[in-house]
Amino acid sequence: MKRMFLGLMILLFAGCTGDGCTGEGKNARGGQKKWGGKLPIRVVATTGMIADLAENIGGERLRVEALMGAGVDPHLYKATASDITKLNGADIIFYNGLNLEGKMGDLFVRISRGNPFVIAVTEEMDPNTLLEPPAFQGHYDPHVWFDVMLWAQAAKRIEKGLIELDPKGEADYKAGGAKLAQKLKDLHQWSRNRSKELPEQKRILVTSHDAYNYFGRAYGFEVVGLQGISTVTQAGLADIAKMVDFTMRNKIKAIFVETSVSPKAIQRVRDDARARGWDVQIGGELFSDAMGKEGTPEGTYEGMVRHNLNTIVEASK
Ligand SMILES: [Zn+2]
Repeated sequence: MKRMFLGLMILLFAGCTGDGCTGEGKNARGGQKKWGGKLPIRVVATTGMIADLAENIGGERLRVEALMGAGVDPHLYKATASDITKLNGADIIFYNGLNLEGKMGDLFVRISRGNPFVIAVTEEMDPNTLLEPPAFQGHYDPHVWFDVMLWAQAAKRIEKGLIELDPKGEADYKAGGAKLAQKLKDLHQWSRNRSKELPEQKRILVTSHDAYNYFGRAYGFEVVGLQGISTVTQAGLADIAKMVDFTMRNKIKAIFVETSVSPKAIQRVRDDARARGWDVQIGGELFSDAMGKEGTPEGTYEGMVRHNLNTIVEASK
């Protein structure tokens, strides 16, 4: 009897030193596994723009996966079963926050409870630098990546999170972060110069949804979105009529569709303006809430920013 008891104790004890022990490998962070020190670190990001920053900072120490690929609208996106598996298997999670991932908000609130490695990359941005357009009804505009210098702050937040998780990699993350910061500074300067190729009165950007307010502020464009701040609300006939008037009044040469939003409403504006005698063009396709396909130049954050500005400037000249 005594021997059996001892054996049981050993068994229990042995069980508690291994991986299978309840409590071991888990912590108070909502049952999320703590990173065990194994490289590469599994990083899950919601959008491609966030994944791109993490890859630039962490390089080979990370294996970065974005949940939302090309053409995906984050406002409407719901996590799939396989996303949940990916999120559960992640060592660190980065999401945009500011309600961009509208349908996943509750999910992130739940899994971030007590977990310092579920990080909204916008969380430490100075509220004074954030926009709060009336259409957002008291919420901040989440489309911060279109002000390149604001996005550089998101990069800083990612760098900080990675160093906290993996202090041994600090030198690498700092080096990657510094290189990225320089790249973003150059991209910002390029964007400012490219914008100035258009005279001020031609710097008006008409597009489907209000994704470009930060872009407008940073690079001197008046921005007019056809549908509200999120794509959840559809543009109504009154919005379309107002936009046709605006386009004619300001003699706008080109308006733009977006890769992650249905082009129908913008096409309708063009058709209605033409019917009233103003020949406005669809100036091209802009990337707003998703980057281009992987492996193409637009499949990177930098490529996306350059593509947008080149498209806008060339069509509006
Ligand atoms: Zn959007």
